[in-house]
Amino acid sequence: MKNISFLRLAAAGALLPALLLAGEGKWTPQQVLQSNEAELRKQGLQIPVSRLWNAAKGTGLLAATVNIGGCSAGFVSPTGLILTNHHCLFGLVQEHSRPDRDLITKGFLARTPEEELPGKTTRVTVPRKFTDVTKAVEAAVPQGADDLARNRAIDAKQKELVSGCEKTAGARCRVAAFDGGLQYVLIESFELSDVRLVYAPPRAIGEYGGEVDNWMWPRHTGDFSMARAYLNGKPYKPEFYFPISTAGVKPGDFVMVLGYPGRTMRSLTAMEMADMRDFYFKLRAEVYGEWIRILEEATKGNAAGTIAVASSLKSLNNVAKNAQGQLAGLQRGRIIEKQTAADQRVMAWAEKRPEYAAAVAAKKELDQLAAQRRATAVRDFLLQSIANGPLALRHATQLVRLSAERVKPDMERDAEYMERELPRLRDRMERDQKSYFAAADQALMRSWFQRMAAMGQAPIAEVPAVEALYGATRVTSAAERLKMFTETTEQLRARRDPMLELAFALDPALRAQQQSTRQHDGAVARLRPAWRRAVIAEAGKPVAPDANSTLRVSFAHVKGYVPREAVTYGPQTSLAGMLEKNTGEDPFAVPQAVLAAAARVDAAKVPLNFLADADTTGGNSGSPTVNGRGELVGLNFDRVWENVANDFGYNPAVARNVNVDIRFFLWLLKDVEKADGLLAEIGAAPGKAPAAAPAATH
Ligand code: ASP
Repeated sequence: MKNISFLRLAAAGALLPALLLAGEGKWTPQQVLQSNEAELRKQGLQIPVSRLWNAAKGTGLLAATVNIGGCSAGFVSPTGLILTNHHCLFGLVQEHSRPDRDLITKGFLARTPEEELPGKTTRVTVPRKFTDVTKAVEAAVPQGADDLARNRAIDAKQKELVSGCEKTAGARCRVAAFDGGLQYVLIESFELSDVRLVYAPPRAIGEYGGEVDNWMWPRHTGDFSMARAYLNGKPYKPEFYFPISTAGVKPGDFVMVLGYPGRTMRSLTAMEMADMRDFYFKLRAEVYGEWIRILEEATKGNAAGTIAVASSLKSLNNVAKNAQGQLAGLQRGRIIEKQTAADQRVMAWAEKRPEYAAAVAAKKELDQLAAQRRATAVRDFLLQSIANGPLALRHATQLVRLSAERVKPDMERDAEYMERELPRLRDRMERDQKSYFAAADQALMRSWFQRMAAMGQAPIAEVPAVEALYGATRVTSAAERLKMFTETTEQLRARRDPMLELAFALDPALRAQQQSTRQHDGAVARLRPAWRRAVIAEAGKPVAPDANSTLRVSFAHVKGYVPREAVTYGPQTSLAGMLEKNTGEDPFAVPQAVLAAAARVDAAKVPLNFLADADTTGGNSGSPTVNGRGELVGLNFDRVWENVANDFGYNPAVARNVNVDIRFFLWLLKDVEKADGLLAEIGAAPGKAPAAAPAATH
């Protein structure tokens, strides 16, 4: 095994001497290093790409780009300050909110380190090293292995590589598969598990426009928050952090969005995409739409209940509206029709080349698998939705499975129940109490049962008496749950707790589903690489792999767009637009302190949000948006409505990501929060010029 020095993904197709990475593409650090630097310079990059990432040293400006609970974030001070989106730290704010101390509504600012608020489950990973392990993973699959055996062999090899990697103190590792197994990369990160809330604006700023404006433009949202990472009780000293640019951006400027995009579907065949549309996104819109109404109804007028479900409700809202956007975008952009044509083109190309016979066969089999999966898609979705549904059911199913896995040797357990996961699982089970509100959980449970029963699914062919279930279970008590956490299967059974009994009854269905997912993943690992090789070769140019929550770079420019005929959107909004939208009513209620400060400035001169044509998706939330010198000019937080379905295909005409302008953040901190200490710490105290180059502390 060696550090990646060779661009395998492009090598699978036509390896160009140097890559050109404009517009479309969430590029890996390795691909960036292979890029056409002169071309990037022409576009606006002013630092050598080696400043972004130095593979030999495992460091560079990208090392300041961290992952925080599935979101992206950037270090902005030598003393561990992290800037990310308000919606990324919302759970941490909710964790510390109570009706008599409603931080969600009021916001929070720690004026001293002692006032910072610890996050029970908040963790940050700092990237360190990427190693191509494709050969090792492929070699682990025995000759003639069927799909299930293939999956098991890949899984076992990945666990072995991860465990070797985590021998380094503080290391958190994973093996990421790119495009279903075209490449496997072992990623070593450094994990920081002591992360404390430093600043969150009032919700009325951090989420200005709420669900009305979510996924929309023009936008006026201060979607930022700050945390601080600690190591051994002291502020963490990152090797790199982003200097803040007070000069900001203007239309046409070059920017880069650095972050951890979660999941895209561009490498799927048209048939597979159609499955995602007809089940996954349709059901997300429908089921989560219902759950949103249920949670709102069950907590109406109850302050404690409203705070308890705030975080779950926010993420359900985000996911449900995203699903609607995907469905609308797929239709509007005729994306699946276009993909069908693209698939046919590649098939015709491959059929003429005997060396691509495997690709032709792989494509046919991928399509067959997609057709087969339709039969169980609704049931599969409902079983998976336990993860976003009633907490009591999620906890009970986890406890039941944990008790069965714990007796196995560590390397043979389900990955989620290996020793390395147990502290975080326990933390989540404890912390979830802050999100538990009995009436809401029961109402969700009723909906879930009804949907399962509607499919005639044993073991839940009829709706049990939910109130009785909740009345008798002890899974909903944090203290009891933590006791159960260490109990054996026999002890759990002996409790005769009805929620646990329900989980025991569901366990075979969950296991069967897990088994079929594994088999499917094994088939995909066998088929997708062959098909992708043909797709990339036919394209004759570098192709960025689908997002998989690994570190990526997108090169972009500040730019408006035309959402529909006769309408042109500019790329920049300002405080003036926020005031224009102000109705005084949620979600357009500008707080008094902001109104007062706004009256003292020319609001049109306080930039608020801006658009760029970066290639982003969920998980890119909180991504540092930097200028050509690597200085922070904003934070990515959203995409425009017309661009939600870019997860399936990039359309340059509407590919726009939404960024919060760092100048609004600076204005708010200075004029409204009077947070001079924080401003000084990030080197943006009034009147101070930004550092000229990406800062390193040593
Ligand atoms: N707002 C987004 C999110 O929820 C970011 C995106 O999908 O573009 O993650």
